[in-house]
Amino acid sequence: MLQTDVLVIGAGAVGCAIARELTKYQLKVLVVDKNEDVGGEASKSNSAIIHTGYDAPPGTLESQLVVAANPMYELLTRQLDVPYQKVGAILPAFTDEQFDKLPALKAKAFQNRVYDVEYLTGEQLLAMEPNLNPEVKAGLYIPRENIIDPFLLVVAYAENAQQNGAHFLLNTKVTGIRVENGRVVGAQTTAGEIQATYIVNAAGLYCDDVAAMVGKNDYTVNPRKGQFYILDKNTTCKVNHIVLPIPTKVTKGKLMCPTIHGNMLVGPTAEELEDKQDYSTTAEGLASIETDVRRLIPGVNLRDSITQYCGLRPNRNPEGLHVDTYDDVKNYVNLSGVRSTGLTASVSLGKYVAQRLIEIGMPVNFNSTFNPIRKGIPRFHEMTYEEQDALIRENPLYGKVICRCETITEGEIVEAIHRPIPARSVDAIKRRLRAGMGRCQGGFCGPRVLEILGREPGVPTEEIRKNQIGSHMITGKVRGERVIANV
Ligand SMILES: Cc1cc2nc3c(=O)[nH]c(=O)nc-3n(C[C@H](O)[C@H](O)[C@H](O)COP(=O)(O)OP(=O)(O)OC[C@H]3O[C@@H](n4cnc5c(N)ncnc54)[C@H](O)[C@@H]3O)c2cc1C
Repeated sequence: MLQTDVLVIGAGAVGCAIARELTKYQLKVLVVDKNEDVGGEASKSNSAIIHTGYDAPPGTLESQLVVAANPMYELLTRQLDVPYQKVGAILPAFTDEQFDKLPALKAKAFQNRVYDVEYLTGEQLLAMEPNLNPEVKAGLYIPRENIIDPFLLVVAYAENAQQNGAHFLLNTKVTGIRVENGRVVGAQTTAGEIQATYIVNAAGLYCDDVAAMVGKNDYTVNPRKGQFYILDKNTTCKVNHIVLPIPTKVTKGKLMCPTIHGNMLVGPTAEELEDKQDYSTTAEGLASIETDVRRLIPGVNLRDSITQYCGLRPNRNPEGLHVDTYDDVKNYVNLSGVRSTGLTASVSLGKYVAQRLIEIGMPVNFNSTFNPIRKGIPRFHEMTYEEQDALIRENPLYGKVICRCETITEGEIVEAIHRPIPARSVDAIKRRLRAGMGRCQGGFCGPRVLEILGREPGVPTEEIRKNQIGSHMITGKVRGERVIANV
C-alpha cells in the first residue's frame, strides 16, 4: 500500500502549487488526479490573466489571496521558466451609466489595497488602444493585470515539486476517504488504498464530492460555463491590453485580450449549468460574445477565429472561496469556491494551505535542499539564429520542425515525452509546447506528433490518446499500413 505524509487530491494549478510549497518541508507529498496529465480542468480553460484583485469582494479570503499573489508572479515565473507578460488592463466607460460606476470601482480597488488604479480620459484610452470604440468617455487603467501561459504554469509547479521530491499518481480517482477516530488516515482510489497522515482536497469542480467523502456536505458546486474564441495571430483587429467591460451586478462580462503567444482571446460567457461534463461550445454562447465584445472593440474580426473552447468555473453554493479545517475531521484541509481567480491565487493558496497544515499539527522541518528553479524545454522559436544553430549541432532533432504554425521542433517534442512528468497524449504535448495550437490546429503536425508519441516510449500509435480514456486518435488501418485518424 502507498504511504504518504500529505495526499493532495487534484493536480490543477492549485493542487500543484500546494505540492510545490509542501516540498519546502521534509515531507512525503503525493498528488493524485483522475486525469491522464497534470493541468487540471479549470486550470487549462481560463482567460490566463494574473489578476490584481482590484474587483474582488473586499474583506474576503479571495481578495486577500489574489492581492497577495499578484506581486509574486514576477519572481515565480522567472524561477519556473514560465512565459509571463505585463500588459495591464483598461476598463472603458461608453455610457453615462458606466461612467458613473467608475468612482465605485476605483474605491473598491482601494478597499482591496490595489492603489495603482488610475482614471484615464477617453483620448488617453484611445491612444493606448486605437481599436477601442471611439465613443469611449473615460475609464480606469489597472497596470498590474497581466497575462501568463496557464498550461506551463501548472506543468512547471508540478515538475518543480517532483524535482524536490513530490510524487504524482495520474489516471487515479479518489473514490473514498478513510476517517478513523475523528481524523483522516487514508484514501481509496482506483489504483488502490493510500495511507496518508494529512489530506488536502483541491479537486476543483468536484471538491463537493470529495468533501462529502468525509461527511462535509454543507455546500454544493455547479459549473459556470465560460466560452471563448481564440483568434489568429494575424487577425486584422488587435488589442495591446486586457480590455474589460464595466461589470454589471450579474457578470464581470466579456473581454478581449492578447494571449502570451500573440493570439487574441475573446470571451468568456457566464452560464449556470448542472452538468459538470458539459464542455460544449454553443452558437448562442458564441453569438453573445460577438454582440458584447463589439461594444468594446467594434472591429473585432471573429472570422479570424482558429478555435473555440469552454471552461467550467466551480461555482460554490453558498458563494465564496473557503479553506476549511474541522475539529471532527482532523488532518484534513478542504478547499472550495476557487472559482474565477484561482489561477492567480494558486501561488498564495499553496502558501496558505501549507500554513493551515502547520497550524493543525504538520511538523515544520525545512527541506534545506529545496531548489526553486525549474528549467523548461528550450523554446526553439524564441531563439536567435546563432542559438538555434548551436542547439541543432548539439541535437539534430531541433533542426526538424514538426509544427509549422508555431515552429515546434522534434527535439522539443521528444524532450516533453521524457520529462519527469512525461507528456503521453496529444493534448499533453499541445499544452507544454503549443504543437497543434496554431492556425491549422494540428491538421498538419497531428500525425507526426502521434508517431513520435508512439515511437519514443515504444507504444503502438493505436494506443495514443487525444486526452482522456477512449479518446484514441487512430480508429483503424487501411491496406494494412495506413491509419485513419479519428479527427
Ligand atoms: C472560463 C474561466 C475563466 C477563468 N479566468 C481566470 C483568469 O483569467 N485568471 C485566474 O486567475 N483564474 C481564472 N479562472 C479560474 C481558474 O482557472 C480556476 O480557479 C483554477 O484553475 C482552479 O484550479 P484548481 O486546481 O482548483 O482546479 P482544476 O484545474 O479544475 O483542478 C482540479 C483537479 O482535481 C481533479 N479531481 C477532481 N476530482 C478528483 C478525484 N475524485 N480524484 C482525483 N482527482 C480529482 C480533476 O481531475 C482536476 O485535474 C477562470 C476559470 C474559468 C473556467
